[in-house]
Amino acid sequence: MIKMTTKLSEKNILIDAMENELKKIIMRMGLASTVLLLTVGCVSEPLPKTMEGFPHRIEVPSPTARIATELNPTALPEGASAHLPAYDGDRFFVTLPVAQQNSVTAKQVLQDVVVPILKAIGFERGGDALLSPPEYGVKIPTANFNELAQDVALEYQKNKKLFRPKSQKIIDASLRKTDADSEVDRALQVGEGMTFSQLVAEIERQEIQFPFQQVVDGVPIEHTLILASRWEGQSVRSVRGVVYNKYTITNQNKKDSERSVEKAIKALLTVEGVDKVDTAVDGPHRVLLPYGTDPTGKTILRYSDRMILRTVFQKEDGKFLLWLDAETGKILKLEPLFDNAQAEGMEFLRDPSTGGTFKATFKVDPATGGQYVLQKQGLSNRVDYLGDGDPANDLAIPENSNGSTPYFANFAQAPINDAAEAICSSGNNKEFQQVNFLAALHFYSKHIFNLGIFMPFPKLGGTSSDSSDPWDPQIEVAGYCNAHSSMKFGACDGYFDAACPSVGQLNMAHDKTMIAHELGHTITPRLTLARPSDWCGVGTCAVPLGWFGLHDLADVWADYFESTNCTGGWVYKNQGGVDNSLNCLNHNEFGYLPRLHEVTVPFDPAQPGDHFPEKPIQSGLYGGFYGNAQTAAAALWHVRLGMRSKSRSFGAIQYGIRLTRALMNTGFTGTADASKHDGLYKSLYDLELEMVDQWTHSATPGVSPALQHKGPHTTNKVTAGFARAGLFLIPPQCLDGDKTTGAPRYCPTAKGGENGGDAVIDITDNDSADDIAFAGVVHPEEDYLELGGRAPTFHVWTGSRYRLDGANGDPTFNNPAPCNSVFRVEVSTDETFATGSTFTSHWMRVDTDPTTPSSPECYGTWTPTDAQWNSLQTNGALSFIYYRARTQNDTKTNRRLSTRPGRLWQVPPPYAVITTDGESEY
Ligand SMILES: [Zn+2]
Repeated sequence: MIKMTTKLSEKNILIDAMENELKKIIMRMGLASTVLLLTVGCVSEPLPKTMEGFPHRIEVPSPTARIATELNPTALPEGASAHLPAYDGDRFFVTLPVAQQNSVTAKQVLQDVVVPILKAIGFERGGDALLSPPEYGVKIPTANFNELAQDVALEYQKNKKLFRPKSQKIIDASLRKTDADSEVDRALQVGEGMTFSQLVAEIERQEIQFPFQQVVDGVPIEHTLILASRWEGQSVRSVRGVVYNKYTITNQNKKDSERSVEKAIKALLTVEGVDKVDTAVDGPHRVLLPYGTDPTGKTILRYSDRMILRTVFQKEDGKFLLWLDAETGKILKLEPLFDNAQAEGMEFLRDPSTGGTFKATFKVDPATGGQYVLQKQGLSNRVDYLGDGDPANDLAIPENSNGSTPYFANFAQAPINDAAEAICSSGNNKEFQQVNFLAALHFYSKHIFNLGIFMPFPKLGGTSSDSSDPWDPQIEVAGYCNAHSSMKFGACDGYFDAACPSVGQLNMAHDKTMIAHELGHTITPRLTLARPSDWCGVGTCAVPLGWFGLHDLADVWADYFESTNCTGGWVYKNQGGVDNSLNCLNHNEFGYLPRLHEVTVPFDPAQPGDHFPEKPIQSGLYGGFYGNAQTAAAALWHVRLGMRSKSRSFGAIQYGIRLTRALMNTGFTGTADASKHDGLYKSLYDLELEMVDQWTHSATPGVSPALQHKGPHTTNKVTAGFARAGLFLIPPQCLDGDKTTGAPRYCPTAKGGENGGDAVIDITDNDSADDIAFAGVVHPEEDYLELGGRAPTFHVWTGSRYRLDGANGDPTFNNPAPCNSVFRVEVSTDETFATGSTFTSHWMRVDTDPTTPSSPECYGTWTPTDAQWNSLQTNGALSFIYYRARTQNDTKTNRRLSTRPGRLWQVPPPYAVITTDGESEY
């Protein structure tokens, strides 16, 4: 949806073009054509038990030396807060006070924001080294509330237990069946801190980015950018990125890029596993690729041509993103844009054992020759049962009988809808799974489109004016106990066994967590390194780093779409015995299936789960990419749970939208090596910064009324989700054990350059009876307290229990841990914590000795006394209690406050709601 324009005086043309593109997309998604109803049941199929392996991948050399930056923090724009770079080429993140501003030009952003930041980080090449973005910036895809509301309604339909007294009313208003009246507004005001119109405005708001690319003679430096971001109607809120002050270019800028595709094909054919190379589907784009450092620490840059080539890799279709040396014709960097079959062997999706079947609405193409088949233009070619290329055995239904009409394809008819006959190969129904698959694929794709992704989708690379690249799904492929991101799904031995489904691994496409996981392999690259090549609006655009080192965060998408933190809980359910691993009752933590994404609170070193940095240590490098992904998935799962606890209706989609937007802003970090602990930390820190940036700015005080609300009070659900997984908004140079690297105002070198303190707080209602469990997964409700019931307990994390100062950036756990040593909790009936309305705990000490595993480090809890809890309930039902935590070290030189995350933002305090039954109103 980003059009390429150089002069932005044609703003309206841009908008028109975007609208046209949107219309095309809507047409492609088939919103104007047929509606199908179908019963989605679960079919079971086994997963393979292959060893995990990775596609061939070539990475640039890691930097071997660094040059310290000459920082001048006083040059920052007025009111700015920052995490400044530790060395030349390190990432920075700056937040700014926001004001109402309708028109913002690139020139203003450069002068008022970027140039002062460049001064602060000691960049001497000046504004000329940057290529200006389009005059009014680049509009980022927006979310669609109306469409997402349909998915919320469906979720309630599927899980009737979700309904609360006012749920139906709020859903009806969301679907525009009724107007949002004062009752709806009041309920939302209580639960979300905002009215209905504010809720919609926040979800659909327009983000506008100003990408300033660092260029050398017009050639951009890859993975490098200064990205300033603002919301429509407001001034710039945050700026992040990387620039290189000191670099050396070590090859020639040879201008024969027409031959570079030819050379790339030749080079790629020498890569093991590549059977065939078709052609370039994107590029070549001439860029300067950072390629390690010279001995003095200057970044080496090499001219290279970036392109995406379509290949056959180990007999499967797959695309590679590669950078070809412009002088030597060698591949400098190679990144697969698909998921290796063997690797997928260990992954599974949601299963038939949970929740029976439901009727789903999706789209197929109009009937041809009097028949409907399972295909949707722009999204998916016909679902190929058995993967045999033979349409004769693929499902087709007549358009004029059994409930179908020329406008309605009724795949919910007997016997197709008989799930019981679909679970095993011995059953009579091989058609249910075909319908189930396309319905799921359609649902996920439509949902991600409505969250706001770079269009067209599905597609990797290309330009924003291309058409999409529909999948060619194959399901129940025999002899292929695996799943692949090209949408090839196999059936394993257990599916064909007489004892099915109580033996072996089953049918991959029956487990929807597997389908969603494979889709995740397209979603995350599309949001990051395989975005449209013209996304930045001017010339050749640098792309960010992707998330290959965290397995494309594929499990995160499976968790999101299927409301579970277990991947492969059906297809691998018989691991270790009949139903032994069903829904991750038992699970594999080394990259196999099923995979649980979980951490315990408090942290228990004997059972670290997916906690950082213990999980990556435990999972080893070979399974590391899956293990890294599990750490991210566990943190994000807790963010999602927290949001859902706050708002059962909208919490999950708020999480989804903000995650999507945050991912688009990640990866402009120069380099990152997730196979090392410090590199993985940097990636996760990058993600948390961008997530918190989305949460804190879900509202902005002082600007348009639609965005003046209390939404950012849920920011602690992000910081607490990450803290549970061992992650904090602490600049990496504050944990590296190096006194010469620091961050001003955070861990200044003058004070030793180290500081692992933080202040993160969350609440529990001490009532598990009101938690929602559906389909075998518990979604705890913690943020509604029962009037006259139990007092809540507050969890507080005081920072990091590890440093990343070991050899090779490895973690160490020395006594004392770098976290703050004491904390105190403040709870109040008043948002400003006025003295008379506030109860404050004593300063409480946390264990800071990581060598005593029996007591959790850097963590503590506090529960108000009965008398305090009584007083806090003074205002009765539907009143709030606000909470925050302070922490400090023994010398009181490092004080932190939970409402000042990362020392970058100021947010309203989180609150819990007191209700008569301790549950939400909707
Ligand atoms: Zn995968």
